[in-house]
Amino acid sequence: MKVGIDIGGTETKVVLCDDELNVLEKNVLKTPHFQSEADFLSFIFSLVKSKNVDTLNLSLAGFVNQKRGGLEFSPNLNLKISDLVGKLRRKFSGKVFIENDVNCAALYLLKEYGIGNFVVLMVGTGLGSGVVCNGKLIRGGDGFGTEAGHMNYVEDGVLCGCGRRGCYEGYCSGIAFKRLKESGLDEDKIEKIMAEALFHLIYNLTSLLNPEVFFLGGGVIWNLSLFERVLDVFLKRGVLFSTKLEKLKENKFISALGSIFLEESLKC
Ligand SMILES: [Zn+2]
Repeated sequence: MKVGIDIGGTETKVVLCDDELNVLEKNVLKTPHFQSEADFLSFIFSLVKSKNVDTLNLSLAGFVNQKRGGLEFSPNLNLKISDLVGKLRRKFSGKVFIENDVNCAALYLLKEYGIGNFVVLMVGTGLGSGVVCNGKLIRGGDGFGTEAGHMNYVEDGVLCGCGRRGCYEGYCSGIAFKRLKESGLDEDKIEKIMAEALFHLIYNLTSLLNPEVFFLGGGVIWNLSLFERVLDVFLKRGVLFSTKLEKLKENKFISALGSIFLEESLKC
């Protein structure tokens, strides 16, 4: 059996599959507050110990270094674990794969829709992204490429969780919403600022990648009218080529399900 575990800041989603990748079980748990690396590892082992699991797939909100098998940085989980894959393999006899959560969502969408060129943007607490180009997930040299949310939008702008200033995430995310609300702006003005940043990002990525579709999801997209605003600007101003914009249906398990395809995606 294979397990896909998506550890988010508040919730952990677990999906259990058979060898033919049929889903047998889905569960949601509250993510505990991890005091240490050991806490984090024992939480993962507690999820698989009584199951006959031979492949462990982990989806994580943060920068995952595929080359070194580590979680470089995760502001949401407040963790940095070097050689995470090695540490898991020492206690778990099966195969272990790790990946960024939005990259896992992209793997799910690749299977679900079979579209060869697309970008997924998840606007939740942060602004995560995944890029599929010519049927393959783009990872880059160390495996944490395509972090579109951390591309620069405003020179010397607001300080981002990644340590740099002016990232798109600082202007379009749950964190940005909170910051703008605290500065006294009304919701309409906030949505305008966020939609403008998101449109700008989409516009640049379209020129770079010529994707067939942008999939937009995440709590901020589902709870505000950001998608509709961006679509409006998108249609009015026109964007290059025939790129479409699609709002994802809310699916808690998208990253846990996508993580099941990690072995296959890392092979090619
Ligand atoms: Zn950043």
